[in-house]
Amino acid sequence: MSLRLLHEGKSKRVYVKNGVLVLEFKDEVTAGDGARRDLVPGKGVVNARISAHLFSILENAGIETHFIEYDGCRSIVVKKLDMLPLEVVVRNYAYGSLLKRLPLFKPMQRLEPPIVELHYKDDALHDPLVTEDDVLRAGIVTRQKLGEMKKLALEVNDVLSRYLAGKGLVLVDMKLEFGLDPEGRVLLADEITGDTMRILTRDGRHLDKEVYRRGGSPQQLLETYLELAEKLGLKVPLDDLRC
Ligand code: 5GP
Repeated sequence: MSLRLLHEGKSKRVYVKNGVLVLEFKDEVTAGDGARRDLVPGKGVVNARISAHLFSILENAGIETHFIEYDGCRSIVVKKLDMLPLEVVVRNYAYGSLLKRLPLFKPMQRLEPPIVELHYKDDALHDPLVTEDDVLRAGIVTRQKLGEMKKLALEVNDVLSRYLAGKGLVLVDMKLEFGLDPEGRVLLADEITGDTMRILTRDGRHLDKEVYRRGGSPQQLLETYLELAEKLGLKVPLDDLRC
C-alpha cells in the first residue's frame, strides 16, 4: 500500500494512505523553540505506543478521537481531519508558562476547575496565547465548535487524569489539538505523549519532556519515556526500539 508524505513536523511525519493518515513518530526532540535539538533513538517507537494506548483509553471511555489503530513500530493510523490551527492547553496545576505569565499563582497550585487556554499554532509566532474573541473574530472556529472543543478538552483531561491517578501519576497539564471530521464534528487529534503532557510521579519526578527541557540527556529522556510506558502497563522490549 503506497504512502505519500503529506507533512513533516518537528516530532512527526504525516502520510496519506488510502484516505486515512499514518502518523510516524520521529526520534527527534527539540526544546526552547528549537534552540536545542537531539536524536533520541527509540523515542518515536515509545511515543507511538503511548499515544495509541492513551487514545484507546479515551475511546473506551466513550470519547471519539482521530485514532484508528496502532500501525506497528513507530506509527499510528488516524482519521483525516480538517485541523484547527489551535493548541488547547489544559492545566490542573500551575506550572510552566502560566507561572511566567502570571506569577500570582504558586508553583503547583491546584487549579480547580482546570484552566483551559487557547494558543494560535504558529512556530514563527511562538504559539501565542489568544483570547476566545480573537479566535471567533478571526474566523478560526465557530462559537458552537469552540464550545464543543473546550468541553471535549475538559472531558479528555478528566478521563486521563483519573486514569493516570490510578497508575500513581499526576497529570499537571497537557496540550491538545483538535480537528473537524467531514460531518463537522470536533475530534481530538495529534498525539498524547510525554512530549505533550507534564506528568509527575507521587514523589514529584517528571515522566515527561521536562527532563530534557531541564538539560537531561537524550538517553535520560528515553529512559524516562520507557518508565512512563512501563507505568502504563506497556511492555516495550529493547529490540522493538530498533524497528
Ligand atoms: P507551557 O505552556 O506551560 O509551556 O506548557 C503547558 C503544557 O502544554 C505542557 O504539558 C507542554 O508539554 C504542552 N505544550 C505547550 N506547548 C506545546 C508545544 O508547542 N508542543 C508540545 N508538544 N507540547 C506543548
